[in-house]
Amino acid sequence: MSAFPNSTSKPVPDRHCLKNYNTFGVNVLARHFELINNIDTLRQLIISRTLDTEDFCILGEGSNTIFRTDYKGFVLKNDMKGIQVVQENEDSVWVEAQGGENWHEFVQHCIRNGWGGIENLSLIPGSVGAAPVQNIGAYGVELKDVFESLIAVNMRSGRVERFSLSACRFGYRDSIFKNRLQGRYFIVSVILKLNKAHKHEFELSYGAVKERLEAKGQKPSLQSVSDVICEIRRDKLPDPRVLGNCGSFFKNVVLTKSKFEKLHKRFPEMPNYALSENQIKIPTAWLIEQCGEWKGRRFGNIGIYHKHALIIVNHGGGTGREVSWLSEKIIESVYDKFGIEIEREVNII
Ligand SMILES: Cc1cc2nc3c(=O)[nH]c(=O)nc-3n(C[C@H](O)[C@H](O)[C@H](O)COP(=O)(O)OP(=O)(O)OC[C@H]3O[C@@H](n4cnc5c(N)ncnc54)[C@H](O)[C@@H]3O)c2cc1C
Repeated sequence: MSAFPNSTSKPVPDRHCLKNYNTFGVNVLARHFELINNIDTLRQLIISRTLDTEDFCILGEGSNTIFRTDYKGFVLKNDMKGIQVVQENEDSVWVEAQGGENWHEFVQHCIRNGWGGIENLSLIPGSVGAAPVQNIGAYGVELKDVFESLIAVNMRSGRVERFSLSACRFGYRDSIFKNRLQGRYFIVSVILKLNKAHKHEFELSYGAVKERLEAKGQKPSLQSVSDVICEIRRDKLPDPRVLGNCGSFFKNVVLTKSKFEKLHKRFPEMPNYALSENQIKIPTAWLIEQCGEWKGRRFGNIGIYHKHALIIVNHGGGTGREVSWLSEKIIESVYDKFGIEIEREVNII
């Protein structure tokens, strides 16, 4: 377990290249770039009003961010490290992870310690600090299911504040930090309530996890579930180190029951999943596939992944402007066919 850092952040020369700081691999420059590895440095920037005169953006590992052009302000890269147990009882453990920790490494740390609850979120790229921003989710589990609270710095006052589960307003790939408070808080650390082994129940009902375990003759354990999920993800998704991408570019669609029923009459083969009595989820990948030849198509330097219609990939030299153009075309084509406006999941800056 690493200790919380207390060294000062290192300023990096101006006009910093961001190519290695976003998984799509857009080659843009930032006018200013700061590695933030402790709260004091961040508060200093706020209190000295350095950030008042220029734009700023908060960056984790850039796996859900695309820069359209060079960034004319401050990029504040979260580099705060440390994991510690803050509370414990017979059944549960409350773990605080600093925002600059890598999410997947944090998941593995929890698995090694026998703490259950986030094994289904294995191999999601990115940082711990970004995880609450869009309430990351996969294989039937979302961050909100284990979330206790987070600590964040108010980017106007420099005050350190705590957000409870209800204050974060989590929704499907959504939170208050993606809406009303976008860019207003720097998430410093996240506290999760995880289960000790004897209290843990596995979620195995999504995406062939159970079937794969059975095929391997394995019983569910934190490690075996995580390994199977990593395997499925590696089969399905492009590795950003090989082919630049940001994962699913669009959110799945959630419709009210009455809207869904009208549409279902026109497209009876439309796959759908009930989220609640009045909310039906439609896979956006299916909607895009029905619009014709998007999957696997290439447009100059970028294209749509051949195995997955939701993923825009960078074949080399792709720009944020090209991605923005292509995503607009896809949104239009889905709207023309279904009358549904699909939403981007990725943040375009
Ligand atoms: C191959 C691939 C697969 C993926 N699969 C999934 C998946 O299964 N499920 C899923 O939910 N997502 C998935 N994603 C999306 C991505 O992994 C998550 O959104 C992740 O949480 C982004 O983390 P990051 O650190 O890279 O965020 P960044 O891209 O750096 O930032 C994302 C947003 O959060 C803000 N932000 C980042 N850090 C902070 C902070 N400390 N404080 C305040 N705001 C902050 C940024 O300003 C930005 O708006 C996938 C991405 C890829 C490339």
